[in-house]
Amino acid sequence: MRVSVAVPRPLAGSFDYLCHEPVAVGARVRVPFGRGQVIGVVVAVAPDALDDGSLKTVARVLDDAPLLDAPLLQLLHFAARYYQHPLGEVVQAALPKLLREGRAATRDLPRYWRITAAGRAALAGRLGGKQAAVLSALHENEQLEAALRAAHHCGAGWLRDLEKRGWLEARAHWHGLDAPAAAAPTLNAEQTAALAALPDRGFTATLLDGVTGSGKTEIYIRWIEHLTADGGQVLLLVPEIGLVRTLAARLEQWLAVRAGDAQVLVGTRSAVFAPCPALRGIIIDEEHDAAYKQQDGFRYHARDLALKRAQQAGIPILLGSATPSLESYHQVWRGHWQHLRLTARAATTTPPAIHLENMDGAAASGGMSHELIRAMRRTLADGGQTLLFLNRRGYAPLLRCDACDWHAACDACDAMLTVHTASHRLQCHHCGREQPLPTRCPACHSDSLHMLGLGTQRLEQSVARQFPQARLLRIDSDSYTTSRQFEAALAQVQAGEVDIILGTQWLSKGHHFPRLHLAAVVDADQALYSLDYRGEERLAQLLVQVGGRAGRESQGQIWIQTRQPQHPVFTVLNSPYEDTARRLYEQRARAQLPPHRAQVALLARHTDAERALQTLAFTRDGAQQAGIGQNWQWLGPAPALMPRKDGQHRAHLLVQADSRAALQKELPQLTAWLQAQGKAFRVRVAVDVDPLWLE
Ligand code: ZN
Ligand code: ZN
Repeated sequence: MRVSVAVPRPLAGSFDYLCHEPVAVGARVRVPFGRGQVIGVVVAVAPDALDDGSLKTVARVLDDAPLLDAPLLQLLHFAARYYQHPLGEVVQAALPKLLREGRAATRDLPRYWRITAAGRAALAGRLGGKQAAVLSALHENEQLEAALRAAHHCGAGWLRDLEKRGWLEARAHWHGLDAPAAAAPTLNAEQTAALAALPDRGFTATLLDGVTGSGKTEIYIRWIEHLTADGGQVLLLVPEIGLVRTLAARLEQWLAVRAGDAQVLVGTRSAVFAPCPALRGIIIDEEHDAAYKQQDGFRYHARDLALKRAQQAGIPILLGSATPSLESYHQVWRGHWQHLRLTARAATTTPPAIHLENMDGAAASGGMSHELIRAMRRTLADGGQTLLFLNRRGYAPLLRCDACDWHAACDACDAMLTVHTASHRLQCHHCGREQPLPTRCPACHSDSLHMLGLGTQRLEQSVARQFPQARLLRIDSDSYTTSRQFEAALAQVQAGEVDIILGTQWLSKGHHFPRLHLAAVVDADQALYSLDYRGEERLAQLLVQVGGRAGRESQGQIWIQTRQPQHPVFTVLNSPYEDTARRLYEQRARAQLPPHRAQVALLARHTDAERALQTLAFTRDGAQQAGIGQNWQWLGPAPALMPRKDGQHRAHLLVQADSRAALQKELPQLTAWLQAQGKAFRVRVAVDVDPLWLE
């Protein structure tokens, strides 16, 4: 028979082969391609096809049964069309790495560990070290053995010892989010009403708009229990999954779900493609998080594809956040989605006290005001933890010569080099280029070099000077380079082995630190000067998320240091997030920006700046002459926000239309036109549909 195969190459469409064995749509095959062989997925089968001698033959059929079922293939076809990305690469994105590499789709059942009541009692007592870290890690969720062992560097025998003590028990498969028995409160009136309003069948999208601590997770759990009661499955997407990370573990989980053994699949972005034959509902936690959007290659948004998947399957989808995206409010305010609000914090939490500190002319020591230092001292004395946010790693963002005004800049980017004193190097945070830290000015040879500004390493140094007794932990991508190290550091924080944590923005996400009393944004102004029109929305979300980290179980404090305390973004600290969202939404309406308009960005890069710009100008003019996008708004081309990065000059051309439908209608013509002309340009142009970041 003749089969169409999607191959992992950046080429549009699929490729036809002859196959002498029976093979199902959705199965993997090894096929000759170019000079070698590749593993592809069968997307169509024509049993009675004629062999005209031009077709190559499938080398091997790798799966007896389809790996990707029909609804999933339908979703992948949609994604390839919507994002204008080659089907073969889209299909690859849906497969775990080991399956992409041709590993057999068989498995040993994974083993999950959960904490027992005796384990919780032990944890509440005087337990230290690795035992406390492992029990804390299991406090809220059961976890895969492979992930647990990797994160805590412990062996199977060591875990079995804890089992013998009665602290842990092993389970054959994932039972979803197990709330600790003691922390299963009765739902308050708002929660009860929200749960009652959630549908159990048919496509409906619901935005669960709930302040931190209002008990969104409790609603997820009850809804999951309801949907899975008769054997159904639920897909829960989270922006980052903490411990379930190792490839082998993911492969096992993926296969367990496909076989229908697991009822709840928890996963990050790519889990939107997990095959779930009995899918009854989808939940997107922290739906506003930009991590759901892939930034390169196949630039899909998992939230948007999850919505499509729910629609295709005719099942309900629930999107939760304390700071919903304007895109989601857009759907709610136009009446397309249901809106459920949780405004009350659960009884055990009180809202944190907010200190908005004017740093204009204020005395500060190493980035911290004297007031903040005093508050940290009190927190330390009370046995609480402090979290300092500074979204700038390294020691200092600028090295400057006072004598001649020379600045250390990157040769390959339009960017300054960051000083890293520990390694005595200058580093570019955009392309990774490094050079030794000079002791004299390379331009005038004077010794008047000065390091300006504050990075996490410099902040760490000044915190250590102020608090010599405190146990200090810096978490950024310089101090922790692998996710395993990062997870071990989080376990240390959760076990109370750290007094002051300082780190970059990625620490603000959903992590639960029970002893955290004080959270401070050391320099909020950095985000105020963002050139991206989403900058203010992101800062507002960060401020609310940071607030949510402090004092979840006691009265917490939030400190925000800024030179512009009167900036309207800070009203988000004292009023509902929805008010800020309204204000930003109206601003966007006036400026005719998303979500009021649909957007596609064409991104060109080339070693020659003019060439990148000309390619896009030629694309705009050529497409218009070909009658494409007569009702579109063409913005640009213009140099990117950082025009030169890693030796490449970058330019973008934005296309806007009244709706996604209006863009989608003619987008295939535009990319087909680009593909036809692309060879002549010799400039690579990437297409980013619904871009989240202006490059
Ligand atoms: Zn100089
Ligand atoms: Zn650079």
